[in-house]
Amino acid sequence: MLITFEGIDGCGKSTQIELLKSYLEEHHYPCHVFREPGGTELSEKVRSLLLHDDLHMNPVTEMLLFSSARSELLSEKVIPLLRDGLIVILDRFYDSTTAYQGYGRGSLEIDQIHTLNNIASHAVVPDITFYLKISPQLASERTRGSEKDRMENAGTAFFEKVCKGYDVLAEQEDRIKTVDASQSPQEIHSVIRAYVEQNL
Ligand code: C5P
Repeated sequence: MLITFEGIDGCGKSTQIELLKSYLEEHHYPCHVFREPGGTELSEKVRSLLLHDDLHMNPVTEMLLFSSARSELLSEKVIPLLRDGLIVILDRFYDSTTAYQGYGRGSLEIDQIHTLNNIASHAVVPDITFYLKISPQLASERTRGSEKDRMENAGTAFFEKVCKGYDVLAEQEDRIKTVDASQSPQEIHSVIRAYVEQNL
């Protein structure tokens, strides 16, 4: 089973992923967690290029780099684990590309991004996607003071567009469950757990 987590920076994905992983492991469901971009040696190098190097990068190049990291993670790790019947949790997947590079940056037409996403993911589709929905204002309050990567400095107007992208995707795709991420971590976790339990 493939479970993915989405949302803007500061929505609380990492906390929820940890809580879900602990819950699944307590119930004897081994699961593997990877972050995007990242999760393999090559994909982590691409992550570092994308987030920490101050290189000039046009928006299409940026999108292709996110996609190349994804392709490698899928072929090297995710697909073999899914074939073995294991649970994989991804901290971001191709909905991030649609929301950030598509709606946020306007790098390419959305239809073209969907095509690219399909190629980079080797046609793997998540079983459940949790979209942790939060306003850019609250997200920025939560991340105030923490060290920011290159992408996180984009500003509220950019994140408004990213949120709109996630909202559109959530309306179009049944697999995407929107969760109110302004609630407490435990409240969010119980909503997520209930969805996962129905699908185990
Ligand atoms: O979720 P995490 O903080 O690990 O994401 C790394 C960074 O990459 C974030 O700043 C996120 O906004 C950005 N990102 C992006 N486009 C993607 C995926 C992640 O701009 N497709």
